[in-house]
Amino acid sequence: MTLRARLTLWYTGVLAAVLLLFASTVYVSLTLNLTNQVEQTLNQTADEVLATLSEGLPEDLALTLRALDLTSKVSLQILNDQGEVIWQSINTPIVEGILDPGNVPATSNIFSTISIDSLDYRVLTVPVFRRPDDVLLGFLQLGEDLETVQSISRTLLTMLLGGGVLALMAAAIIGYAAAGAALSPLEQVTQTALQITRADDLSRRIPLLGPPRGEVGNLIQAFNESLERLDGVFQTQRRFLADVSHELRTPLTAIRGNVDLIRQMGSADTESLDVITSEVDRLTRLVRDLLLLAQAETGKLPLAREMIELDTIMLEVFQQARVLAKDGVVLRIGHEDQACVEGDRDRLKQVLLNLVANGLEHTPAPGTVTLDLSCDGTWAVWRVSDTGPGIPEGDLPNIFDRFYRRDPSRKRKPGGGAGLGLSIAYWITRNHGGDIQVESKVGKGSTFIVRLPLSSTSKNSSVS
Ligand code: ADP
Repeated sequence: MTLRARLTLWYTGVLAAVLLLFASTVYVSLTLNLTNQVEQTLNQTADEVLATLSEGLPEDLALTLRALDLTSKVSLQILNDQGEVIWQSINTPIVEGILDPGNVPATSNIFSTISIDSLDYRVLTVPVFRRPDDVLLGFLQLGEDLETVQSISRTLLTMLLGGGVLALMAAAIIGYAAAGAALSPLEQVTQTALQITRADDLSRRIPLLGPPRGEVGNLIQAFNESLERLDGVFQTQRRFLADVSHELRTPLTAIRGNVDLIRQMGSADTESLDVITSEVDRLTRLVRDLLLLAQAETGKLPLAREMIELDTIMLEVFQQARVLAKDGVVLRIGHEDQACVEGDRDRLKQVLLNLVANGLEHTPAPGTVTLDLSCDGTWAVWRVSDTGPGIPEGDLPNIFDRFYRRDPSRKRKPGGGAGLGLSIAYWITRNHGGDIQVESKVGKGSTFIVRLPLSSTSKNSSVS
């Protein structure tokens, strides 16, 4: 069953239950109320009659009762103590016999409902005692037909049922139409989603139908966000494949060229062998980096867990990288706190080395690359700042992506990176529970900030 039909059914069902409850309450209370009024009339009449009989049955019973001018609606029978009718009003529906023989003899006032010629009567049976000696004189039976009560109840029931059925039909039709109108955007969402699937075009988005904060609006937004993510993942995958093929093809072409040259010459010259060695090294580095990235991205990078002094690593990197600085570019250590973290020494050194190597590579002379180490609460913070060209704002969100290089021509300098250095730094830092950020202004320089959680001993010593 469709959601629309189910909603309509639920809605109509609930309304039917409410209407039924309402109708039965109205019907029952009105019928009780009207019957109550009949009983009151019977009680009042009984009281009037009893008042005249309290001293014994008078000789001229008929005259006495007629003098009471009783209401014509009420039929009256007077029975002796044996339960035989000794007087009855002319409007009594029973010509012979008693109205309700079942309740005679009665010891107290009893109401009953009897049916005579398919007309219902409310009957009150009352024992009559002589006062003050309480001798039983006989019984009174008073009856009033329930025709008015029943006809009012019947009319009410017809109105309630008819009105209820009409209301339910109207509610079902309106509810079905309203559910259709409310769910129609969902149908459009389904159609658009199917079109996207058939066209295999993840760049398409479902247009926002209705208010953006409504249920359908939320669904469309969530769906579009999923599409966006999927699109991103597929694009990254395609780009990754293209990048890997490109990175592998270039050194392989160089190796192939040099092997052909050696074959033509009939002997291997040193220059060709050097190129082959260098390209094989490049390939080895690339494969090693890719493996490392694959492991780090899935959280499966094997990491040693030892206590490491980041200041010592910074010093080692400083000494190692100084030789990479070109003329006019100074590598210096700025602020230096002592900071211990728990992690893999070689991997963390690789992070800092990548950042420093990038800084030195991109900073033209005259320029400076500065290393800082500070403690910030529970974090150790490495900063690598340079006075290089900076990174445009548009590139910043992608700078840590695999194979991302700002140079679109992809011209590689010999020994130049494949665009994996920052990605590796990012993932190693993440695997250590830290994060890496970049602040950069074009023309002013860049600062890469690595934050790593301080080890507990380091925290204690910094507190004391
Ligand atoms: P690569 O190994 O090619 O250097 P990275 O992942 O280390 O790759 O860096 C990606 C890109 O980020 C580089 O191609 C470069 O354009 C940019 N980049 C990295 N560090 C700096 C820096 N300090 N100053 C300016 N650009 C930088």
